[in-house]
Amino acid sequence: MKMFVATHNAHKIREISQILPFAQIVPDDPKGVEETAPDFAGNALIKVRAIASRHRGEWCMADDSGLEVAALGGEPGVRSARYAGEPSDTAANNALLLRNLDGVQNRRANFTCAVALVAPDGSERVVHGRCFGAIALAPSGNAGFGYDPLFVPDGYGKSFADLTADEKNKISHRGRALMEVRKVLENGGMV
Ligand code: IMP
Repeated sequence: MKMFVATHNAHKIREISQILPFAQIVPDDPKGVEETAPDFAGNALIKVRAIASRHRGEWCMADDSGLEVAALGGEPGVRSARYAGEPSDTAANNALLLRNLDGVQNRRANFTCAVALVAPDGSERVVHGRCFGAIALAPSGNAGFGYDPLFVPDGYGKSFADLTADEKNKISHRGRALMEVRKVLENGGMV
């Protein structure tokens, strides 16, 4: 089966291909689409609808994800990429997060990923994956991207950026959401 994916991110394409090895993954960047929804599911739907209109009768998917910090009322949330302003700046985002948590005891956080799917019959479905953990006092590790050096998943004494890609994929929000996608496809007899 073919799966059109609304991204240009090579890292995501690789991860999706690993978890859905039976699918031919075809990237299609929904350029210029504004992610204006208040939640991850809404933004994933905006992106998948943008590409589904070009690929009628095919499977399409889009994901949207970010970091939610309990003590910050769920921020940065849907603004994760642009937390410290535009254009997106990872070092500035991480520095702002540490500053906003300065002296804060409760460092609980989770990454959330929503994946929106459009089936060949046009029906839509959204699945979620979450990974719970805490924000470290200082960055650690060189792997990964974004907030990885600051996020310590529960049960691990190290950050996402200290894990190998395989280790991270097994427990990450995106890995878990993609496993849900896999179940949807399996239950629909697509595998
Ligand atoms: P996207 O929706 O997957 O492009 O993610 C939006 C933003 O959330 C990214 O720019 C990162 O700041 C943050 N983010 C999402 N997933 C991760 C992750 O696995 N590690 C670190 N940061 C992430």
